[in-house]
Amino acid sequence: MAPKKPSTPEEEYIARQEAKRREFRQIQQKQAEAEAARKARWRTCPGGCETKLVEQPFRDILIDRCPTCSGVWLDPGELEKISSDDASTVQAFFDFFRGQPG
Ligand SMILES: [Zn+2]
Repeated sequence: MAPKKPSTPEEEYIARQEAKRREFRQIQQKQAEAEAARKARWRTCPGGCETKLVEQPFRDILIDRCPTCSGVWLDPGELEKISSDDASTVQAFFDFFRGQPG
């Protein structure tokens, strides 16, 4: 359906705003789809186990871990987040994985 041609400056402004909102929603939807596709790819262990990864919370991030081979998979930025924190966080991170059944 073709949009109605706006006749007043107000209508033109509203039409432009509406077009911007539509474009923004489309971008948001594309980003959500890309994120879902990325998550779907990472649902099984990249180490070749074909085991479903489990998400384990560590502080304020969710870390993907393979229950078969104990492989740990970090999303972009997560390693930086852990290692840029204080030394006790890094130690807690090691303890976190040592404490898990492999
Ligand atoms: Zn694995």
